[in-house]
Amino acid sequence: MVKINENFLKLQKNYLFIEIAKRIKAFSAANPEADIIRMGIGDVTLPIAPVVVEAMKKAADEMGVKETFRGYEDSGAGYDFLKEAVANYYKGFGADVNADEIRINDGAKSDCGNIVDIFGDGNTVLVTDPAYPVYVDTNLMSGRKIIYADSNEANGFAAMPDDNVHADLIYLCSPNNPTGSVYTKAQLKEWVDYAIKHEAIIIFDAAYESFISEPDLPRSIFEIEGARKCAIEMCSLSKTAGFTGMRCGYTVVPNDLEVTASNGEKVNIASLWGRRQGSKFNGVSYPVQRAAEAVFTAEGQKQIREAIDYYRENAKIIASTLDEMGIYYTGGKNSPYIWLKCPNGMGSWEFFDKLLSEANVVGTPGAGFGKNGEGFFRLTAFGDRERTKEAMNRFKTMKF
Ligand code: PLP
Repeated sequence: MVKINENFLKLQKNYLFIEIAKRIKAFSAANPEADIIRMGIGDVTLPIAPVVVEAMKKAADEMGVKETFRGYEDSGAGYDFLKEAVANYYKGFGADVNADEIRINDGAKSDCGNIVDIFGDGNTVLVTDPAYPVYVDTNLMSGRKIIYADSNEANGFAAMPDDNVHADLIYLCSPNNPTGSVYTKAQLKEWVDYAIKHEAIIIFDAAYESFISEPDLPRSIFEIEGARKCAIEMCSLSKTAGFTGMRCGYTVVPNDLEVTASNGEKVNIASLWGRRQGSKFNGVSYPVQRAAEAVFTAEGQKQIREAIDYYRENAKIIASTLDEMGIYYTGGKNSPYIWLKCPNGMGSWEFFDKLLSEANVVGTPGAGFGKNGEGFFRLTAFGDRERTKEAMNRFKTMKF
């Protein structure tokens, strides 16, 4: 009789967004005239930059001509033109990454989930809490032990390592989803030192790096000395260039990264990852890779900045409202997420209901991202400017 992977039974139900949708539906049915503003979604709303659309159209035309048609890409790791563009981008902020260490993918979520294939199930996995749920779910699916590092008000939602606690695989996300907090170089150096000491590997999720506005904050873990010996980085064009519906990202595995197998053999992690991807992934489509290449041109960077600046201004509007109201929050400055403390000790869901019923504004209850999210709430800056302003005007009139 076929057996299922029983680890799936340990996963929490996909409860958060289903419950949000259920509560909105019930509220709308009872209040059909209510003009609901949604500030809970993590998806972008502005269209793809014109230079990127042009590049994709040109590539689509090439696919229709015998001489320029492209089938399978040889390596499945991405065309050199894109890997070189990404490597150059890294050099722009002082991160030491070579083109041959980059693999192009169909977005960061796939690699965040798939990377677990190359690590043994006996590893202890450390996840900062609250966190993007993919880190926990994908490790639960393979039955690994998960431990948590608390991100909370006391540490500004930037959990730090504890040398007395051992972990083998560490997930860090900066700028963080959901809290918007960003590690400094000194803080990341502590994590790198911890990983080297514990012979651990850090999986660094940099999906929101392009929202960093303060020049001293690290946009890549490879800006930190020692990271090439202990880190893998995942990044995405989803939020940087509006690629949520296009699907393109990249993962960097430094050539220096090695682990000793149980037989004493030194194993190169990039080769192992290449072997995994070679067996299970056939690469990203040519037009999407050409579109991604255009993101990294001077004109592409200029055009995507306009959208990022638009979202940043939204974040500023939200943050200044919270400042005015004296509500504690993290994020907003170097991140599209604003993570606020529910006023008067309210629970996340209690605050959700109050915001929905009194201001007709929807956000995401922090409790859905882990135990330290209880009592907190996530708003996103990915919405429309006028709607964001309107939501904040309504918010200001609420009594707590
Ligand atoms: N990492 C984080 C922290 C995210 O918030 C997201 C998406 O919301 C992703 C990765 C995945 O993005 P994508 O698969 O669209 O590249």
